[in-house]
Formats: sequence, structure tokens, C-alpha cells
Amino acid sequence: MRIGIIALLQETNTFISEPTTIDHFVENLIVFGDDVQTHFAGTDHEVGGFFEKLEETDHEVVPLFAARALPFGTVTDETYAALLDELLRELRGAGTLDGLLVAPHGATVSKTVRDVDGDWLTKVREIVGPDVPIISTADPHGNLSPKMIAAVDAITAYRTNPHIDQRARGIEAADRLLRTLAGEIRPVTAAVFPPLFINIDKQCSEEEPCHSLLELAAEMRSRPGVLSTSLFLGFPYADVPEMGSAFAVVTDGDRDLAQQLANEFAAVMWERRHEFVADLIDVESAVQQAIDAPESPVLLLDMGDNVGGGSAADGTALVHELHRQKVNAFICLNDPQAVYYAEKAGIGNYVQLSVGGTTDNLHGEPFTAKFIIHDVTDGQFEEPEARHGGMRHFDQGRTAIVIADTGLTVMLTSRRMVPFSLHQLTDFGIDPSSFKVIVAKGVNAPIAAYAPVCPKLIRVNTPGATTADVMSLEYHHRRRPMFPFEDKF
Ligand SMILES: [Zn+2]
Repeated sequence: MRIGIIALLQETNTFISEPTTIDHFVENLIVFGDDVQTHFAGTDHEVGGFFEKLEETDHEVVPLFAARALPFGTVTDETYAALLDELLRELRGAGTLDGLLVAPHGATVSKTVRDVDGDWLTKVREIVGPDVPIISTADPHGNLSPKMIAAVDAITAYRTNPHIDQRARGIEAADRLLRTLAGEIRPVTAAVFPPLFINIDKQCSEEEPCHSLLELAAEMRSRPGVLSTSLFLGFPYADVPEMGSAFAVVTDGDRDLAQQLANEFAAVMWERRHEFVADLIDVESAVQQAIDAPESPVLLLDMGDNVGGGSAADGTALVHELHRQKVNAFICLNDPQAVYYAEKAGIGNYVQLSVGGTTDNLHGEPFTAKFIIHDVTDGQFEEPEARHGGMRHFDQGRTAIVIADTGLTVMLTSRRMVPFSLHQLTDFGIDPSSFKVIVAKGVNAPIAAYAPVCPKLIRVNTPGATTADVMSLEYHHRRRPMFPFEDKF
């Protein structure tokens, strides 16, 4: 048997004014054929899981195409057209395939095609025909669409947030395809799309309300005939009709059962809808709570400047307050120009620097202070363990570490970097335990990396393109009514 593999992964924040272009994919990942395997094999990504499972068999693995860009603004039409072109060309040129493993993100939006994942999966289905099984993974931050469900035989989202089970879900998907090809199962999928929004502040799989909901999803998986259940948390920053939560069930040939279980789950979610509303803690209170906490370091999660949700990575709201309160703190900011000036000043020298707040007017004013240049590095590091995103190699470009006299340590990067690995600090000689406060520009994703060293965490309602104060966002395309935006149904 010949099994194809395709991945197209990007989380689109339509509230960012700048678009995602082909350069963003080129900078992150576009690979074809065997290079897909070279890149992903052995990683904690779901595509790594595909290869791991298929290696146990005699089937021919046919890696076709994989592309990924960091979360950012709406994908331009030219970019999606170019990616789709390459993807379909590889698929058409692959010869006869017996099955396909696909890895969409689920929240990719282009200017014209709003349901990008539903679109490319449908086109893949049209090419391979109705009889070739297509088994999909997904990020639970995807805004699942009926089109996605219709295009694939089965879909399974990661069950953790931070996502540390990506590889396991890849293995599961590959196993499901192998069993389908062997004639042991016939997966069918149904989903439900309750008009319910889960605030990013309430999306951690280890905390309520998600924890017990995921337990219910697990219990449903143990019922006869059920192959998979997936809770889609949704991505609030994609202004599309599909935005919101969803629940998908895969059964062995019984679509009615799948739909019945999905509806049952949605009823429980609806019952508990008030638990999905955020607790919004402002910057001043959060910093004060951190100072007063007996534990250290305290992890302050910068929700408005959530890099993994597309934000600028240069938000300064917390920098200003931490400096004002003279807190011994660490923060990372994307600011290539400040890196240039720091490098020019030289290690060991003092220089007045303006850092952060340059991308747009959503993320606070630039912060200016006198800093000593502590270090300048190439900004590359490696994460050997399973962390959110399943990535191993990281490159944040030229990086400067500068320290202000209040004890504020700022890591300045030349590229936006997601805070998914503690090696971002430790590989450059920064000891996390030496700080009272560490700022991570994320909401849930950084926890896998930082929980081992930070005994306390506080999610902070900072301003930015990923604000947790979603009532302040102006949606044009989301469904109405939707809880909690509207409360009359
Ligand atoms: Zn995600």
C-alpha cells in the first residue's frame, strides 16, 4: 500500500493588520517529498507520529508536502494560491495512493477563502476520490468547519493544551488509517458546533472547566463502537463564521451514534457555558500579586501579546509596570533594531535603549532605559522534550540580553519567538530561578515549558492583538447569537 502525507499549518489572527505572506512560510517551513520526513521524523509533532507508526509497516510512505508559518495576520490570496498549487501538484504527481494522512491546523484564513482548511481538504478529496481513506489530525484551536468534516473520514484533535500529545495523536491517526486499510474498521465522523465561545483564559486542559470536559470526552471514547472524540476549543482571533467551540466524534461505521454523542457533549458544554468566561486581571494587580506571592519565580502570562496567537511579541505593558515597581524580572521582546544597537554598543557597556512597542499601537509604548549589554548570541536553541508545538529547533535570529539597573532583564530577538521552550533562557546562561517574575507571551502554551520552574502563574489581561477581553474585539463574520457575546437565544 502507498500512504501519502500532507501538512499545512497556520493559525490566522484576522485582527492583525499585517498579512501572512509566502515569506513567513519560507522563513518557517515549506518542504516536499523526503524532506518532509527529514524535518519531522523523530520530533514530537503529529507528522513525526505519522512516520513513527508507519515505520512499523511494509507500506510505502509517500511524504508529499508540509508548510507552516507562525501564527500571524490573514494569509494573502497569492500565498494561499501558491501553497495550494504546490500541494495539489505534489498530490497529482504522486501516482495512486491507498490512503492519506493529513495535518491541517484548522484555523487558517486567507483573504478570500475564509475556511482554508475546509477548502484544501475538499480539493484533496476531489483528487483522490471517495474511496481512499483520509485520516486527519487537528489543533484544538482550529475552528472546525462542516467542510473539513465532510472531506475526511476521521479527524482527531490533540487532547492537551499546552499541546504535548501531538506525536501521540499522529500515531493514533496513522494507526486508524492502517486499520482502515486492513478492513478492520470503517471510520465515520460527525460533529456539533454549539454557539459557544471558550475564552483563551479558560482553555488549559489541566484546569477547569476543560479538565472535566476532557474526562467526559475520554469516557465517551471507551463506549462500544467509538474510535475518537475531540474537543475543539476554537481560535477566538479568527473572525470567521466557524469561530467557536466544536466537538467531533469518530465511530466505527455508525454516523448516528457519532452525532448522538456529539450532541450529548454539546449539551453539557452549554449547561456549563458560564464557566468559559474569562477572569480578567489587569496589569497593575497582576504585578502586585506577583510581588506579594511567597513563591518565585511567578510566571506572568501576557495574554494580549500571545505570540502563539499571532501577536507582535513586543508588547510593553508589563515591562513598564515591572520597571516602575523595580521587580527583578525577565521578559523577551522582538526588536531587531534594539538588537542592532545593543550589539553595536558591545558586551559589558552601558547604553540607552528604546525597546519594544514598535509593531503597532496595540501593544504599549516603547520602553526606554539605560541597560548594560550582558550578552549577544546567534539565538539558536534546541528543545529535546515534548513541548507545545512539538518543535525541536528554534532560531530567533541575532539576540541580545540586556539588563536595566532595576533588575529587569530583557532578551531582545530579531525574529518573533514563541515561548515554548525553557532552553530559550537556559541555553544562553539565564537561570530562570534567579528571577522574582518571568513574563511569557502566551496564555496556556508556555506552561509546559515554565511550570517545572514557576510554582505560581497569573494570566494577565494585557492589551494587544490577542486580548482576552474579547468584548472589545469587533467581529464582522462570527455567528450570532453566540454566548457570551449575546445572551438571548
Ligand atoms: Zn493550538
